[in-house]
Amino acid sequence: MAPEALDRRVRSALRRLPALVDRLLADDAKEDDAEEMFELLVRLKVYLDRLAAGSAEKAAAAASILEVAAVHSALLRLVAAVVRWPLLAPSSNLASSSGSGSSGGGSTSGSGNGGSGSGGSGTGSSGTGGSSSGSTSEPSAGASIQAYASVAWETGCLVDALLELLFAQPHIPPAALDFIEKLRRMDTLQCLARQFATAADSVGALTAQQAGFAGSLFHLLGSLLVTLQMDPKEEEEALHASRCRELATVLCDSHVMEHAARLLLRLMLQGAPTDAALSVANPTANMSHMFLTAYQNITVQSKIKREEGQDAAATVLREVVSGRCVRHVVLIHGVAALCMADGGPAYGLPTDVQQAVSARLAEAFPPGPTEVDLLAESISLSLRAALAYVEPSPPVGARAAVMLLLRLARLAVTSGDVWAAHVQQQRAGLPAHAGGARSVVPRHRVVTVAKGSLEAAWCLLRERLAAHPPAWAEEAGVECWRLVAASFSRNMLRWADDHDQLHRTGLLLLYRWVPLPPAGEPLPPAPPPGLAAVLAGGLLPCLERLLRRAGEEPDGPESAVVEALLRREHTWELWAHLLEYGEPRQAAALVATLGKLLRRASPTLLGLQARARPGSCVPAISIACANVLTGSIPFALTLAEGRQLAHLLAYAACAWLSALSGCALQVMADQPAPDSNGLWCLLRPLLCWLPLLVWRCTSAGGVEAATSSSSAAAAAAGDPSAADDICGWRRLLLEEMRVVPLLGRALRLAQPPPPGFFPLVRAALAQSCCTVAAAFPDEVLRAASSSAWPPERLRALLPELREQGRGALVDGTEELAAMLEKGWAGLRGISGSGSGISGGRIVACESILTAAANLDGASCKLAALLVLPAAACGLLRICSYRGCTSLAGDSEADARMRWCRFCNSSCYCCGECQLSHWREGGHKEACPGGAKVRPG
Ligand SMILES: [Zn+2]
Ligand SMILES: [Zn+2]
Repeated sequence: MAPEALDRRVRSALRRLPALVDRLLADDAKEDDAEEMFELLVRLKVYLDRLAAGSAEKAAAAASILEVAAVHSALLRLVAAVVRWPLLAPSSNLASSSGSGSSGGGSTSGSGNGGSGSGGSGTGSSGTGGSSSGSTSEPSAGASIQAYASVAWETGCLVDALLELLFAQPHIPPAALDFIEKLRRMDTLQCLARQFATAADSVGALTAQQAGFAGSLFHLLGSLLVTLQMDPKEEEEALHASRCRELATVLCDSHVMEHAARLLLRLMLQGAPTDAALSVANPTANMSHMFLTAYQNITVQSKIKREEGQDAAATVLREVVSGRCVRHVVLIHGVAALCMADGGPAYGLPTDVQQAVSARLAEAFPPGPTEVDLLAESISLSLRAALAYVEPSPPVGARAAVMLLLRLARLAVTSGDVWAAHVQQQRAGLPAHAGGARSVVPRHRVVTVAKGSLEAAWCLLRERLAAHPPAWAEEAGVECWRLVAASFSRNMLRWADDHDQLHRTGLLLLYRWVPLPPAGEPLPPAPPPGLAAVLAGGLLPCLERLLRRAGEEPDGPESAVVEALLRREHTWELWAHLLEYGEPRQAAALVATLGKLLRRASPTLLGLQARARPGSCVPAISIACANVLTGSIPFALTLAEGRQLAHLLAYAACAWLSALSGCALQVMADQPAPDSNGLWCLLRPLLCWLPLLVWRCTSAGGVEAATSSSSAAAAAAGDPSAADDICGWRRLLLEEMRVVPLLGRALRLAQPPPPGFFPLVRAALAQSCCTVAAAFPDEVLRAASSSAWPPERLRALLPELREQGRGALVDGTEELAAMLEKGWAGLRGISGSGSGISGGRIVACESILTAAANLDGASCKLAALLVLPAAACGLLRICSYRGCTSLAGDSEADARMRWCRFCNSSCYCCGECQLSHWREGGHKEACPGGAKVRPG
């Protein structure tokens, strides 16, 4: 917008501004001049305020004000004068007090920065100033301090508004950059620091006008900080970084924040003088607000600079917010705000201080129609920073800091509930806050405040939970994780800004917050204290609830969190720790829930999983579970007996593998498989666990073909429960996991596993084939007759096996290929070393049996722990219907079961499952009641 496009009256006001500034700063200035200036500034501000916030028109208007050279320089002169006006001069004789006024404004910009090489632009403005304004800037005799205080206030407001607006634009106008650079070079911050220091030293003597004047300076302090926030263009990054460094150094060296804080503290404690005639009734309320905002900006910028690798600037900024008075201001505001919000303890904060601060807070953050903005970002973030970020950290001691942070998080979590209830009340047509107004965290802030304070608290706790933690830290750790779990409730997640925020929160939850011992180390008998706190706080039920809600409602907010949880590839170590140390029922319930989700997830119905792995046809949840099963096998094999992880993995294998197998079969039905990597991820755990499952099946007795099991088979003949067991395992392997077609398709896969994927995967395929052929030769041969198991594919594995020196497996695989070629008919009449028929059953040959029996002691121990899903009752009572995918309730552990009234041994989560189990699940045949009646 060209200056001409401005409102006519504004244009005329701007035209008058330079001359008016000259008059005001002249020796013989009159009170009328100050009043005229005040009106002019108010007109400009009102004009800007009327334009719609965020509109292009508003930004253009602001830019064009600074683009008029004469106005630009006049405003600079005005600011230079304002920050040098003697605050304490008696109102009758301002002119006589301290010296070097606005000439300082002009001359410092030229001389003070002689070394920086940018004096050129500096003199541009000071030239104008110097030539027209003579030498003095003090308010002259005759003009009352009130008029000047009002001018100072409006100057601060206008400059602050202009700069904040322009620095928020994607392209910051050069005039704005130039303006703020000159402000800095005019030693504005140093002048502010002096003003604050002087005012703080004589707080008792300040009049309301003087306090208002000091308040206006807080505006200027805030406006100078916008430089820190700007996001420079790439080619200007170096320049911007050096400007930020300079600004940070001045902020630090001038102690401007510390002086401001001291002034604020003293004003609050002594009670600021007030005067209704002043444009701002109580300046300290505004000062608090502006100070906390400045504090917040500096803290945030310090963190950003550190992340960007600008450590020097970050350290200096951190020092700026670490002063004693600065921290004190933030802490008393934070504690007072917390007390107002939750009515909790004030930790010895004197009542009068608390009341004074609360009154200021109520003024600075007035309650809105539906929200009490009391714990707006500036207070909660500042409090978090003051407690957890500053040096030396934390200023009030770790324990107190943690308690305060947890209290803030608790308030955020309760606020989530309050807002949820509020929405419900609105829906029901009840008046808002029917239960009485409460101070809560604004609804769009609950997630951020909870996450921020919990992260800060956990950060402090984590260090203290390392070796021999004090009791308070252990308790606080558990409480912290209770709140973490609560902060993932629906009432909290629903207030998240967007999908990305949820996703980030999910990542934090598992991957940054859960403390794990270094990778590759053996599991200690008891969890480290940090992990113990995580589990005692309820991470497992929280995860289970998130998974269940996400499974039921793929569009709900939990899905985004779950996506983040499942996204990482190498997560099994984390899950292994959770399963090993979690409360057994909770861990088993988590495994059961994952099993249900696996059964629900199908490649054709991706739902939430599709977004997590773009381009993949394999659901992310299947990949995650497959990785847990694969990754933890070697881990589980090294565990001493009796470890929970081994039991839970065995349970997980039985509960998950049939779903994984179903998923793999579906993916392999499309040839070539669209996602070879994902497919092999699915096949890997199947190939690793298959030999163990088969061993479990055959060692239970009953399969005559397995040499090791003949005695067990004999025993089983007289033991009906063992026979049931055998049936169960056969059913799991042959019907649920469908191992014969699964291995057949895996053999025929066009795409081999990706290079470097898992070097032994093809050996594992050969091993699984031999194992299955040894245990179920009939089924394998039947499949061979329809060439489901192509012998040439088996032979193709041989060179690799020979290279690995797997002699027994080579022999077995060769025999198996030969047996498949001969087929059913070819086996008749053959006896001796080769496969043959014995007593009407096919018997695999010695080589296959030898290859199949190739299970080491550790694997046998793990295999012995495998339990049929139906028999998992020892850990958990689960629905007897294997196809059950009900996700009602928050956990499998607290599902209420109904029992089959005929046998009293099968139980169900719901009537549908009972009916399905009766009709399709085979219970009608198994149950003694099945012969006569239908279930009730
Ligand atoms: Zn069920
Ligand atoms: Zn029954």
